[in-house]
Amino acid sequence: MPVLIYAENADGKFKKSIFEAVSYAKAIADQNNTSLTAISIGDVAVDELSALGKYGADKVLNVSNDRLKTFVNQAYASVIAEAAKKEGTDIVVLSNSFSGRGLAPRVAVKLNAGIIDGAVSLPDQSGGKFIVKKTAFSGKAFAFTELTSANKVISLTPNTYKVVETGGTAAIEDFAAEVKEGDFKVMLKEIVRSTDKVSLPDAEIVVSGGRGLKGPENWGMIEELADLLGAATACSKPVSDAGWRPHSEHVGQTGIAVSPNLYIAIGISGAIQHLAGISASKVIVVINKDPEAPFYKVADYGIVGDAFEVVPKLIEAIKQH
Ligand code: FAD
Repeated sequence: MPVLIYAENADGKFKKSIFEAVSYAKAIADQNNTSLTAISIGDVAVDELSALGKYGADKVLNVSNDRLKTFVNQAYASVIAEAAKKEGTDIVVLSNSFSGRGLAPRVAVKLNAGIIDGAVSLPDQSGGKFIVKKTAFSGKAFAFTELTSANKVISLTPNTYKVVETGGTAAIEDFAAEVKEGDFKVMLKEIVRSTDKVSLPDAEIVVSGGRGLKGPENWGMIEELADLLGAATACSKPVSDAGWRPHSEHVGQTGIAVSPNLYIAIGISGAIQHLAGISASKVIVVINKDPEAPFYKVADYGIVGDAFEVVPKLIEAIKQH
């Protein structure tokens, strides 16, 4: 029974988070002495599909269907479940991306499977069990969750498993999925990009600003720092509530959860609701003029100082290197 990984594409390309998920699924396949099948839905070039072999996919099922060119939650879930049944697989892996979070529970229902969303480790299968570490309580704790169902669906938190190149090649097979009218009740008509900048959920570096920045007119230095670092910009909830920044940048319990390698928090107090969205960050740097700000309790590095003095100096220093 192969493991099945859903390889989601963005405009025909696979992102690093998908290579992480393929590497993770390959490790699960190895644990179970089985092969790895990937499924790709939408228009993806053959070269791009073959690249999945480099990370351990033995076979790629390519679904190219006009009705599935844009993402439709229910229809994509049906296709993935159909592929799982056809392959006889009992473990389906997805990335816990924005679309993966919508797909994973739907696929689990269709396969009558147990689900672990937001996995951060490989399953521990010792003693015939299947236990996976995942984040819980908005990132404040970890849960070790056992799946006892025959079929299992796991979504992997981006940036928690490293990309491993196996150097293999994948055979590409067309997969003629059956599309059902009932799966198209809600249709995504058009995706309009609000910006060409780095996408926040996938960003490896995030520069985030809070109410300490006083107003939207001061975001120029945040954007400049982010541009220099190739980072995405983010903000705290009051900042987006006040309309200083778009809601799509709001990070935290009621916003987006991010898991970058580096999160730079500028003028943000570090309220528990904000920390809930950033706890999977690898390194946290805090710039705040209040040495008692709660954010310092979770920071790896901190600069106690006025953002309006520290950030321009940082920008200058980066420009000189
Ligand atoms: P403040 O708390 O006002 O902090 C500003 C910080 O900037 C202070 O620490 C201050 O010392 C510092 N500062 C001021 N001037 C400067 C300067 N010149 N240089 C450097 N530092 C300076 N919040 C979120 O962010 N995300 C969420 O998802 C979220 N969900 C919530 C859900 C619920 C149900 C509730 C009740 C609240 C939620 N909140 C959320 C709000 C949260 O509780 C905090 O109020 C919010 O995070 C505070 O935002 P802030 O740190 O930007 O502002």
